[in-house]
Amino acid sequence: MARKPEETAAPRRPATALGSRRLLARVRAKLATGAVALPDIVALIAAELVAEVCSAYTMRGGELLELRATHGLDPAAIGRTRLRIGEGIVGLAAATGTTLNLADAQNHPAFAYRPETREEPFASMLAVPVRRGGQTLGVLAVQNRNPRHYTEDEVETVETVAMLLSETLVAEAVAAGLQGFSGTLPRQFDAAILAPGLVLGPVVLTQSGRTPRRLVGDDPEAERKRLETALASMRRELDALIDATLPDGDAPRDILDATRDIAAGEGWLRRIDEAIRTGLSAEAAVHRVAADMRDRMRRVADPYLRERLADLEDLAERLLVALEGRPAPPAEAAGAILVARRLGPAQLLEWHTRGIAAVAIEEGSPGGHAAILARALGLPALGAMRDLAEAASQGDEAVLDAENGTLILRPDPSVRHAFLGALEARAARAAGRVRLRDAPSLTRDGTGFRLMLNAGLTLELDQLAETGAEGIGLFRTEIAMLARGAIADAEEQTRLYRAVLDAAGPAPVHFRTLDLGSDKLLADAAAPPEENPAMGWRSLRVGLDRPAILRRQLRALLAAAAGRPLSVMFPMVATLAEFRQARALLDAEAARAETPPASLRIGTMLEIPALLWDLPALLAEADFVSIGSNDLLQFVFAADRGTATLADRYDFLSPPMLAILEKVAAAAANTTCALSLCGEAAGRPLDAAVLVALGITTLSMSATSVLAVKETLRALDLGAFRPFLETLRRTGTKQGSFRDPISAWAREHGVPT
Ligand code: PEP
Ligand code: MG
Repeated sequence: MARKPEETAAPRRPATALGSRRLLARVRAKLATGAVALPDIVALIAAELVAEVCSAYTMRGGELLELRATHGLDPAAIGRTRLRIGEGIVGLAAATGTTLNLADAQNHPAFAYRPETREEPFASMLAVPVRRGGQTLGVLAVQNRNPRHYTEDEVETVETVAMLLSETLVAEAVAAGLQGFSGTLPRQFDAAILAPGLVLGPVVLTQSGRTPRRLVGDDPEAERKRLETALASMRRELDALIDATLPDGDAPRDILDATRDIAAGEGWLRRIDEAIRTGLSAEAAVHRVAADMRDRMRRVADPYLRERLADLEDLAERLLVALEGRPAPPAEAAGAILVARRLGPAQLLEWHTRGIAAVAIEEGSPGGHAAILARALGLPALGAMRDLAEAASQGDEAVLDAENGTLILRPDPSVRHAFLGALEARAARAAGRVRLRDAPSLTRDGTGFRLMLNAGLTLELDQLAETGAEGIGLFRTEIAMLARGAIADAEEQTRLYRAVLDAAGPAPVHFRTLDLGSDKLLADAAAPPEENPAMGWRSLRVGLDRPAILRRQLRALLAAAAGRPLSVMFPMVATLAEFRQARALLDAEAARAETPPASLRIGTMLEIPALLWDLPALLAEADFVSIGSNDLLQFVFAADRGTATLADRYDFLSPPMLAILEKVAAAAANTTCALSLCGEAAGRPLDAAVLVALGITTLSMSATSVLAVKETLRALDLGAFRPFLETLRRTGTKQGSFRDPISAWAREHGVPT
């Protein structure tokens, strides 16, 4: 049970600010002697908290906690009592990295009785992990005979001692030559696969959860002055930010003004000040108070309060920056696995340029744009893993298995070995697929299909040659804008689109106009806040309401093509009228172009269900239609594509989706309008097989999928598969998805998926 802030009533003298100041001064004096003065420190804590017992456990060999010093337990147990991580209350505090404050420890399910310690008379226990840089180094345990909850002040006091002690324990570990000293065992996370692949490498963290460089402040006055200077500079920065970005009367201004008020608020400043008086450096005091706030935030249910606490945490981070400067990003992250709580596409690109080999996003889901970008960049990626960022430390080795959907932190040698074997096998399979690059795109029984690439950056274009894809089925123009952080001017856009056309040569390129909004947000986007941005004022809707940006882009596309063929499509079209309006803008710009394109093909994405009711007219008027299965799926099932917990709930291979696809394919069959599908489903071999069976034979996908899909389709006998699929659809499915039986059929018929 975690400590409860509301349980402050104590039947005894609490550790007062004055008392804990005296204790911390003594602890610092002990630690300054250089020797690990654990026996003295536990005795000091016991005296201060009027506790019958205080013990210190430290890590031994990375897997066990050993009793190193005790005041109150049988001294003969020192060096003998050992607990595994996760074993007993002490082991639990170490494993979870959280403080446990228990009035009735012996009836806690994790309690482990150790007769040699003679601890049976003690009812209550406070177990505080000693942590540094995300690793557990030991645990301080306080025990009392009477059942009681330790007060907040007491808990804070012991946590501060633990923080001071952490420095000494790290030094001790280093001196003992404990390489890769780690307080935690291997840990496995089940995850959603965002982009396939296998990687073994060190972890880099986006949120470093850094520990202050200086923990102890010898002169509280000087520390207070440093805090004041940092506060003033933080407030100035906040003021400037608010004034520069938001005009008077703007709604977000109110929110930021509230943040500014909090920055001036007394409560948290008083707590930081108190922490400084206990002997901490200004940054250690801010860090301490912020950690405490984070702890409280986890327990607060009220969304308003959670928001306020989140604001405070943000401010604390700003204060740390003002005190210490920004943490230097790891100079290079080559070969590393990036671990993040959340990640925007622009951030991912930034890390990509530093050479990361894979990415694990705690709250990532397969339909999110970071996932799409990871696939585009060929970066193996996993998502939907609770508490990963908390559990991982900078430099931990990890196995990211985006074939089976698991991430293993700190793998043990046998797992590591098995994994290296799998990597070799995979490399061999990929080498085998390369020969497919120039093989004809025909199913086993001779039906032709076309595989194209989804891209968004010029650096992806060399994949055309490497995969043998027949062109770019979807060029997401917003990706480059997200990468540069703002929409480029007309000249820069022209240069970009020209480079794309140059690189593609004779291969067709389907440019999609800016699809910004929802989770593809530019930092400077002055979009009004919306409850439901995925269904909000985004994408083409913005383009039509504020046509200047859209027209600028259309001019740039026309200038880039100048005499060459040009294909342009519009995203998030909901009605035929919107398509007509957008096309009229393009026609008007084309009529004005200095050098018109050799041919102009105008198409649309089909990703909003309403457009299905305009199909006949749409197919008659558009030159091509590309189904955006990511958005179509999200809108058909009313399931946010970015929500990790919904990622596996609704399947593309489901009765409603297949019914829609069949209807569209049938409607397009007798028209001159070209039909394709460019959502993520196209890149999944099994889904691609179904699409081809339904008559959608042009598929656009990320480069990493092209050869795998080709291998599947070339092995597919449509003559056998179609009747099976029809029977299956007639029979229906209880699970809401046809995936399992289709997958079984593929296995039985030797179709690799
Ligand atoms: C889609 O929605 O399927 C699609 C291809 O577009 P995006 O993923 O960029 O929204
Ligand atoms: Mg879309």
